Amino acid sequence: RFSGVQGAPPIEVFALTRRYTEDKHPNKVNLGVGAYRTDEGKPWVLPVVRRAEKLIAEDQSLNHEYLPVLGLDSASAGATRMVLGPDSLALKEGRGVGIQCLSGTGSLRVGAEFLAQILKYSVFYYSSPTWGNHKLIFMNAGFKEAKTYRYWDAQNRKLDLAGMLEDLRNAPENSVIILHAIAHNPTGVDPTEAEWKEIADVIEEKKLFPFLDCAYQGFASGDLDKDAFAVRYFEKRGFEFLCAQSFAKNFGLYNERIGNLTLVTKDAETISNIKSQITLLIRGMYSNPPSHGARVVSMVLNDPEMFEEWKGCIREMSGRIITMRKALRDRLEKLGTPGQWNHITDQIGMFSFTGLSEKQSMHLIDEYHIYLLKSGRINICGLTTSNVDYVAECIDATVRK
Ligand code: PMP
Repeated sequence: RFSGVQGAPPIEVFALTRRYTEDKHPNKVNLGVGAYRTDEGKPWVLPVVRRAEKLIAEDQSLNHEYLPVLGLDSASAGATRMVLGPDSLALKEGRGVGIQCLSGTGSLRVGAEFLAQILKYSVFYYSSPTWGNHKLIFMNAGFKEAKTYRYWDAQNRKLDLAGMLEDLRNAPENSVIILHAIAHNPTGVDPTEAEWKEIADVIEEKKLFPFLDCAYQGFASGDLDKDAFAVRYFEKRGFEFLCAQSFAKNFGLYNERIGNLTLVTKDAETISNIKSQITLLIRGMYSNPPSHGARVVSMVLNDPEMFEEWKGCIREMSGRIITMRKALRDRLEKLGTPGQWNHITDQIGMFSFTGLSEKQSMHLIDEYHIYLLKSGRINICGLTTSNVDYVAECIDATVRK
């Protein structure tokens, strides 16, 4: 029977990383995968994470017993406080709860299973374009129909707010709307505060269900509170919603799979029923989550001094990204590369949607060993002071071709 299995399509970003790794060219540049790199082009273990890991390793009171099904309470409570804010009314009133899940992906999956299987939601909407995994996660969780709402105005390289609002207005009641809470992947373009208000108005009026995906808190502005605006706004407006948090990027804990699913309800009494249902969903999926990342996150979020140090690390990462955005734009403008390049510094977060076509993107890979997604998305963190000239020159040559 195995002989009849058809090959599945490759996952673009992982296939790209493999090609990059196998490439022997001395000037190769990886602008594909969404991971932070130092100015030396290296992965970065945050010093505060190293410190926490040492303390954990030396703590004789810790062991490898199972965590509870819903994870380490101190980690999920810290994570929920971090995203909803210390003054959250939902938390004060016991209407908000956090569940430790397997990074952002696992948090989305658990939330989507809850919505599909327990609340019987069947239609979800995601932005066009979006992160390559949303559709797969929600369909595998049991949703029946995937739909898109307009988001990106390619011509003007900005948010297509009118299109987005129109598509949401036409969505059937009880559709789940996936929203990128901060630093939209792949476009790097977020709604303004006033635009979030209009989006929330339509979601409320049309009885849609918001599911916020928060994978980059701190990465956009360097300020955790500022980057949580959208999530806190939905809370203040009194919505019931879900929010999936990832600690892959802001803690650099990619492979530890630490994330958090926050649920905000209208009344505190339902929380224990919700938790009991999610307990069964998780029990049947992976039984309970791993502890290492949870211990690190818990320690850092709950210790004021380590928390401050971590915020410094976030500022360093977001600061380097902003510097590299400027560097790339400056060089393209100095070279007189045809077209406008202001969007590179206008966009926020880890990614830039360069506006390069698929053909141009493939040319950069094949001709210059610069790896990027075929949509033209680049990870700004892949740029360094030593490769930004090369990248700019190659983009220039490609655009002029
Ligand atoms: N959502 C978005 C929009 C993302 O970009 C990512 C990371 N690529 C995630 C969720 C979650 O990733 P992870 O499961 O590694 O936390």
